[in-house]
Amino acid sequence: MDNFSVEINYCSRCGSKIDEDINQNDRAVVHICKNCDAVYYENPKIIVLSLIDFNGKVLLCKRAIKPRLGYWTLLGGYMEKNETARRSC
Ligand SMILES: [Zn+2]
Repeated sequence: MDNFSVEINYCSRCGSKIDEDINQNDRAVVHICKNCDAVYYENPKIIVLSLIDFNGKVLLCKRAIKPRLGYWTLLGGYMEKNETARRSC
């Protein structure tokens, strides 16, 4: 366990045992509850969002992945544990 890791053993929603899984979209390790589908991410909680104004309307995107598959949201996402906020170019 590094300085940043938190061990997640049980679901805070239903109390079931948590399993480790691989997110098929970005290959990140996630912790999931197979009983209630809750997803527990282990990341630094840094998030980037884009607010795009187009003729007075806000552009949203429809989620194509779990959690909240099919929900409308702003464009953005969490920084993953193995990513850096440091500019690469
Ligand atoms: Zn659960």
